[in-house]
Amino acid sequence: MTGPAPRAPAVPVEIRDIRKRFGGGTPALDAVTLSIRPGEFLALLGPSGSGKTTLLRILAGLEFADSGALLIGGRSMRNVPARERGIGFVFQQYALFRHMSVGRNVAFGLDVRPRSARPAAAEIRRRVQALLDLMEIGHLIDRYPDQLSGGQRQRVALARALAIEPSLLLLDEPFGALDAKVRKSLRIWLRKLHDQMGLTSVFVTHDQAEAMEMADRIAVLRDGRIEQVDTPATLYAEPASAFVHDFMGESVSLPCTVRDGAASVDGLADMPPIPTDCRPGPAVAVVRPHEIGLRPGPGPARVLACQIAGPMRRVLIGLGAHEYDVLVALDAWSPGVGDNCGVDLSRARVYPVSQ
Ligand code: ADP
Ligand code: MG
Repeated sequence: MTGPAPRAPAVPVEIRDIRKRFGGGTPALDAVTLSIRPGEFLALLGPSGSGKTTLLRILAGLEFADSGALLIGGRSMRNVPARERGIGFVFQQYALFRHMSVGRNVAFGLDVRPRSARPAAAEIRRRVQALLDLMEIGHLIDRYPDQLSGGQRQRVALARALAIEPSLLLLDEPFGALDAKVRKSLRIWLRKLHDQMGLTSVFVTHDQAEAMEMADRIAVLRDGRIEQVDTPATLYAEPASAFVHDFMGESVSLPCTVRDGAASVDGLADMPPIPTDCRPGPAVAVVRPHEIGLRPGPGPARVLACQIAGPMRRVLIGLGAHEYDVLVALDAWSPGVGDNCGVDLSRARVYPVSQ
């Protein structure tokens, strides 16, 4: 990539107690509060229907909150129309104009400006070429969208979003329609571009691996509420809820009951209780398969199946009325199907179950 054009400094984004309801029913966004730092790459992560697109459209000014406040660069966005927000927006579906060349697509946001705010034609051409070069598709300037691959089209869409020199870039599942390999290479590339251009970016995805790989921080949305905002490492290691634990990576959940600072797994009286500061009552113990300890010898579990899984061994155990996947180191112990074993759940995290 060549050096980026000088641009406005990255802006902070303040989202305060934003609520949005479409018609009746449950709210699409329910008291969402979030501060995004200047220059930050923030991922909005959540399952389908959790409110990610709605929040992004409110930031862009394409949708309006029922209540709450939004400040971009310290300025209230109340009554500021979308085109005056200085925001670049990339959608999942390639929203390119099919009858326009790549170059004209990218120039579009500048071409439609009123004469007084529009750069000279030669300057627009220079800027478009520089952006396409930066996207590594400079040679495609005279092609039409139909003549491009999916990955190339998304690069054009990104160039078009960047042509207006936004200080905030919003991306709604921009790689969702691409195949896995292209998606992975574009992730790394987009993250570099963000750093190089000094943007603030909000990136929507339902793919936790994508969010973990790209983002400085991840906001996890569930049913229109933010469950947790943290760095990828903290979200993975210290999930604040069973939902986040489960969403951030493979996990196993065991219903349990908390009393006197310890959780006992329901239906398994022989299992040692798990120390916890979770409140008393019904709870769930959540643990990643590699955090479960297995010991050969007498114990409550029975080995049902066993297979090599990359650098680990995946062991399916029967415990009480359920079956669970466990990952153990290859050199630890080689279990045989039918063997009994002890189970160590002390690394499980215990979360209350709302009644
Ligand atoms: P996500 O992007 O996380 O999949 P959305 O923000 O698109 O979620 O949707 C959140 C909720 O709001 C969903 O229940 C969806 O059906 C609803 N919703 C979104 N847009 C509209 C709309 N224009 N009219 C009615 N309901 C909508
Ligand atoms: Mg969406």
